[in-house]
Amino acid sequence: MKLTTNDLRTALLNAADKMEEHKDELTDLDREIGDGDHGINMSRGFQAVKKELEAKQDFADLGELSKLVGMTLIKTVGGASGPLYGTIFVKFANTWKGVGEAEGDALVSGFEEALEGIKTRGKADAGEKTMIDVWTPFINALKSEGDLSHAIDEGLAHSKTIMATKGRASYFGEATKGVQDPGALSSSLLLNELKEALHD
Ligand code: ADP
Ligand code: MG
Repeated sequence: MKLTTNDLRTALLNAADKMEEHKDELTDLDREIGDGDHGINMSRGFQAVKKELEAKQDFADLGELSKLVGMTLIKTVGGASGPLYGTIFVKFANTWKGVGEAEGDALVSGFEEALEGIKTRGKADAGEKTMIDVWTPFINALKSEGDLSHAIDEGLAHSKTIMATKGRASYFGEATKGVQDPGALSSSLLLNELKEALHD
């Protein structure tokens, strides 16, 4: 598996469109087990990313691209998810500094660092009904060369069944069981686009 700078840029432009398509759904879910702003937050952040990427087409490497994306998300998303999504790309940027194409261990470690970053910043772990429950199976599948689409779908489906113990959703306790976590859904949209960017 390989990730090139240009393919990551394309994946992010596609992810921005996906966030827009699912904006109302993300907000509706966050209205059920949060404060009803997740679709708005994701839309604002990824539209800002899209604008930056349309203005600049050539990036030296994955690091330069990821840094711009991370900074843009931190500046624009807000809420709990802003720093978390920002951290993902800041970790990508640190791991892939000067790297034009990531493959093998270098590819996996970017994703591992991103997941560790989310966990540290959110003081959360797998099984707490957050975006972590989609990132974890994705990375496991990446490491074992398993089916990435299946891993995303399974993670999303499992996270729906469990109770939230972190973030705003945790205030809704048992009522969160059976409701899709909005951040898990937005992460599945992003990871599905990143998956498309990975190829042999
Ligand atoms: P806020 O909760 O501040 O309104 P958003 O609605 O944009 O922010 O994002 C909520 C999403 O962020 C949740 O659905 C969840 O996936 C994720 N999230 C919230 N808190 C945490 C945390 N501590 N660790 C990991 N993810 C979290
Ligand atoms: Mg919210």
